[in-house]
Amino acid sequence: MSEGNGHSDGRSGGGAGVGSNGWNPAPAVRSDPAPANPLLSQPIEFVGSFPDPNVRVEPPLPEIAFIGRSNVGKSSLLNALVGRPGLARVSSSPGKTTLLNFYRLPGFYLVDLPGYGFARASKAERAGYRELVTGYLRTRHTLRGIVWLLDIRHDPSKEDRDMQQLLIESGRAVLAVFTKADKLTRSAVHPRTQHLAHALQLEPEQIEVTSSRSGAGIAELATSVLAATTQGSSS
Ligand code: GDP
Repeated sequence: MSEGNGHSDGRSGGGAGVGSNGWNPAPAVRSDPAPANPLLSQPIEFVGSFPDPNVRVEPPLPEIAFIGRSNVGKSSLLNALVGRPGLARVSSSPGKTTLLNFYRLPGFYLVDLPGYGFARASKAERAGYRELVTGYLRTRHTLRGIVWLLDIRHDPSKEDRDMQQLLIESGRAVLAVFTKADKLTRSAVHPRTQHLAHALQLEPEQIEVTSSRSGAGIAELATSVLAATTQGSSS
């Protein structure tokens, strides 16, 4: 894979997938039993919520951003990833916050980008959202990778496709995370993963299948996130 640190044109490879800038995942060989989650033991601090994609946070550190359709399970995933159930607010009624939430861990920031696809958002709100995310993706020098969440049960929506296009254009390293795997039977997880990978033209190493409820895939994702913070550090 390319380093995908945000300075390529992002269009190489010609496919619709984000594969050409896929992120170098954590060890491809999965150990059994599952590896320990390296983020569980880390201190974490909420830095703040910011409306400006050019916000200066001190000290400047690598960033890993999380994005997905509203209600995809992003807050639950962030909480599971760092082992803090109350860190990000989990909601059964999707809201329309348009702020970037920064969390500091030793050596990097987790950035919770606002969810997209909020049904009742106005045209102006959608435009504002796009501007915020596009600005963040284009200009953020410290950004090392995007974790893009998709609900494993659903085919990509138009908003997901639009987001994929933005991600491709940004040239950023992208890891696709299929959420809520516990909602499927065990035997359905693999075919569903294959189906989504095909629909989005994603390579297997760019995909993590997770469940915040069962904990499946969470330690692997944490390992990938940590690995990405030290990759492609050209800026
Ligand atoms: P967000 O809007 O993307 O931040 O999504 P939330 O984390 O707030 O979750 C939306 C809804 O999905 C809530 O009702 C969660 O309890 C539920 N949810 C999130 N992750 C999972 C999961 O892994 N499994 C199941 N079964 N439900 C989940």
